[in-house]
Amino acid sequence: MGDPVGFVGLGNMGRPMAENLVKAGHDLVVFDTVPERVEHFVTLGATAARDLVDVAERTDAVFMSLPVPEVVRSVAIGEGGLVHGSKMRLCIDLSTTGSRVATLVGEGLNASGRLMLDAPVSGGTAGAAAGTVAVMVSGPRAEYETMKPLFEAIGNPFFVGEKQGLGQTMKLINNVLSATAMAMTSEALVLGAKAGLAPETMLDVVNAGSGRNTATTDKFPNRILPRKFDAGFSTGLMHKDVALFLEEAALYGVPTWVGHAVEQMWQFALMRDGADADFTTIVKHAEGWAGAELKGKGAT
Ligand code: NAD
Repeated sequence: MGDPVGFVGLGNMGRPMAENLVKAGHDLVVFDTVPERVEHFVTLGATAARDLVDVAERTDAVFMSLPVPEVVRSVAIGEGGLVHGSKMRLCIDLSTTGSRVATLVGEGLNASGRLMLDAPVSGGTAGAAAGTVAVMVSGPRAEYETMKPLFEAIGNPFFVGEKQGLGQTMKLINNVLSATAMAMTSEALVLGAKAGLAPETMLDVVNAGSGRNTATTDKFPNRILPRKFDAGFSTGLMHKDVALFLEEAALYGVPTWVGHAVEQMWQFALMRDGADADFTTIVKHAEGWAGAELKGKGAT
């Protein structure tokens, strides 16, 4: 259906989002530094690119879903990056990079006549698989309208403004709230466990009351109480997002006392557990400090 579309970065989020584009009938040209991730897509009918330039030589529009801002910058506008392919006209960044790098990458692409949409997503790996992630798009509106059917194949698109980087600012606002919910729910429920409240009881009450949040409705009942710690989002990426939020706050000169406290808790988890730990394991620190565990009934 239509021109082939490029997709770079086939990890926890990129893989299910690219799969949804294939399911919607789009021909993909894919690239990842891990060959097995590319091979999976070849079995689905996609074309494997030799390198980044090859992706941008074969496709007009290229999606990226990459881990950290420096990788996004180098893949898009660095040496051997997409900008050196002759066909690519539009680059769409689904990664979380912050508005500073989104603006830098956008300007780098604009300098050679290319356009960029920053389009970070929220909803986790489950949302990516179900095609329900919120996609926060900013950049040239006409490009957004053209690409809307592809965004709809990935999830629920929201156009947040033309200013480059606004989608990133929106995403960081979302994620600092998610990071805060994880950190504070860990401290609060561990206190309850120490006092003698059952974890299930606490979740039932909080979820029927005003303390309800994404940690109490999803991460604690589904990932933490069963002791599975399998949310598919890493501590390294969560810390990156909170640090990027603080960068955003500094950029606009806005104080954020609570944001700094939340960052410290994620920094501690990052130092202790490493970047690849599942982000739900942060609760184990609160458990250790309190000497109480949030184990659900039936968890092994
Ligand atoms: P990931 O590490 O699982 O995937 C990144 C992929 O990029 C990997 O397959 C990696 O091999 C590939 N890659 C790295 N460097 C590359 C390069 N130079 N060229 C080509 N491929 C390269 O990360 P993820 O969890 O999928 O997250 C991707 C982005 O989405 C991040 O910015 C993250 O913050 C954001 N995000 C993640 C989640 C989540 O729940 N995992 C949710 C929302 C947003």
